[in-house]
Amino acid sequence: MTIHGPVFSAMLQEFDGAARLLNLESGIWKILTHPKRQITVSCPVLMDNGEIEVFTGYRVQYNITLGPAKGGIRYHPDVTLDEVTALAAWMTWKCAVAHIPFGGGKGGIICDPTRMSRRELEALTRRYVAEIIDAIGPEKDVPAPDVNTNDQVMAWIMDTYSMHVGHTETAVVTGKPLELGGSLGRKEATGRGVMIATREAATHLGFDIKGARIAIQGFGNVGSMSARLLQEAGATIVAITDWKGGVYNASGLDLAALSEYVRQHNTVAGFPQAEALTNDQLFALEVDVLVPAALENQITMENAPSIRAKVIVEGANGPTRPDAHMHLHERGIMVVPDILANSGGVTTSYFEWVQNRYGYFWTEQEVNDRLEHKMCEAFNAVLKTATKFNVDLRTAAYMVAIDRVAAVTRVRGMYA
Ligand code: GLU
Repeated sequence: MTIHGPVFSAMLQEFDGAARLLNLESGIWKILTHPKRQITVSCPVLMDNGEIEVFTGYRVQYNITLGPAKGGIRYHPDVTLDEVTALAAWMTWKCAVAHIPFGGGKGGIICDPTRMSRRELEALTRRYVAEIIDAIGPEKDVPAPDVNTNDQVMAWIMDTYSMHVGHTETAVVTGKPLELGGSLGRKEATGRGVMIATREAATHLGFDIKGARIAIQGFGNVGSMSARLLQEAGATIVAITDWKGGVYNASGLDLAALSEYVRQHNTVAGFPQAEALTNDQLFALEVDVLVPAALENQITMENAPSIRAKVIVEGANGPTRPDAHMHLHERGIMVVPDILANSGGVTTSYFEWVQNRYGYFWTEQEVNDRLEHKMCEAFNAVLKTATKFNVDLRTAAYMVAIDRVAAVTRVRGMYA
């Protein structure tokens, strides 16, 4: 069972470079480059127009050596098994870099949620959960939000699972609404982690986050929360693009007004207090920090040569193609890789899972303090490896992750 699509191939290319530097033995190499389990399901849904539609859904558990599989579920028309497998692999390395006791998983459903009613989305979610019910659970695989899924979708997942097992089980999914076991600080967590990673990278490069000029691609959960928290930390957010267009204001965007505009128009495009700009123009801006916080494969050899930022902080998973990454590294542009930069989300998901199992909830300050500590620890471990081996931060992050998963694989040994 193996996958050789473009997204998984990019992951493999990143993996190979780090595994070679670690002198990883070929047996463990083979294990870590194969997904443990790939599930494909058909989900029939009665649509509002009376027709039955059948949606294809995936759940991939890439590696569960360190603990239950962990990772989000995305709803998007372009979802493929190749993409979901790569994303599940990235979750494996992300959890290992974050040093939390989870393996990596990911789910996806091929659908266009912008064209579906709330009732159709609920029906699709519940049917998908019913189809994968034997594979998930607090000890097995714990989903979370991702592209186009939110706390309401997590509530439906939790409820469907609970109905099947016959009791309320909150720890089966994270990113839930607060009133049914969600954690304070989870919604902001990926953005908070991006802010912390940006601050640490800036300190390392010798500039201050206060007054730094930042451009962000994407204004979903990760993009909008990163923007807010980076601004609170003293940075100036000069540009944001989304699926439909972009906005630029040299003296800084008014984020409260922009969020209100997005609530009404579902895009930043057309926001009156700014100039319009395209995604290519956003990438080419002379800023201190560029945060890609949309989808994978955004920074390519087509646009990487025009990038002028000092540092790129990957809020999205897999936004930079390997050749573009190499090009940026050669030009001295620092890239804080996805598996480090956006690990604040899954780290706080871990806190949510712990609180659910413990039945005792933390204050927002406690959650944020613990996240701050975990993010700094991960950042320092990666930086230390990068310095020691004289490699870029992505290779270093993979080295930290592979080393941890390989060590546990070796000591657990082969079963039969
Ligand atoms: N979807 C998020 C990610 O890609 C969060 C995963 C989680 O919290 O399990 O990291």
